[in-house]
Amino acid sequence: MIKDDCIFCKIAKGDIPSNTVYETSDFRVILDISPASKGHILIIPKEHFDNIFEMDADTAAKLFSLATEVARAMKAELNFDGLNIVQNNGEIAGQTVFHFHLHMIPRYEGDEVNVTWKQHESVPEEQEKLAKAIKKRIQ
Ligand code: 5GP
Ligand code: ZN
Repeated sequence: MIKDDCIFCKIAKGDIPSNTVYETSDFRVILDISPASKGHILIIPKEHFDNIFEMDADTAAKLFSLATEVARAMKAELNFDGLNIVQNNGEIAGQTVFHFHLHMIPRYEGDEVNVTWKQHESVPEEQEKLAKAIKKRIQ
C-alpha cells in the first residue's frame, strides 16, 4: 500500500528525489537530509508501514539482511569508529516521519551524536514475571 500524503512513500517510489545509495524491489536506501553524522543513512521499505507494529515478518527479514550489507559498505567507505542502528516508533520515541525507516548512524570519535539512556535497577522477581508475560504473547 502507498499513502498519498506520505513523504517517504513518495521518496521510496522515486517521485521525490533523494540521494539514493541503493535500491531493491522492496527498499530504497537513502542519505538522511539532516544527518546526525557523515553518512547517516535511512533504509525505507517501498510499502507503507506506519511503524514496526505493522511490518510483516518477510519484509522485516529482508530489511535486516539488507542492513548488514549496507553496514559493511558504509564501513568500507566511511571508515567510522562505530555504528548505531536506530528505529523510532511513535512520537514519544522520536518518530517524526510516520512511514517505517531504519536509521544507520555512523559514529566517529568526538562526535556529538547522543543515543544513550539512563540505566535503572531492576527487581529480579518482577523481571521474571515480565519475561513470562511477554513470552506468552509471542505467537
Ligand atoms: P524519525 O525522527 O522519524 O525517526 O526520522 C526521520 C528522518 O527523516 C530524520 O532524520 C530526517 O532528517 C529525515 N528526513 C525527513 N525528511 C526527509 C527528506 O525529505 N529527505 C531525506 N533524505 N530525509 C528526510
Ligand atoms: Zn508511506
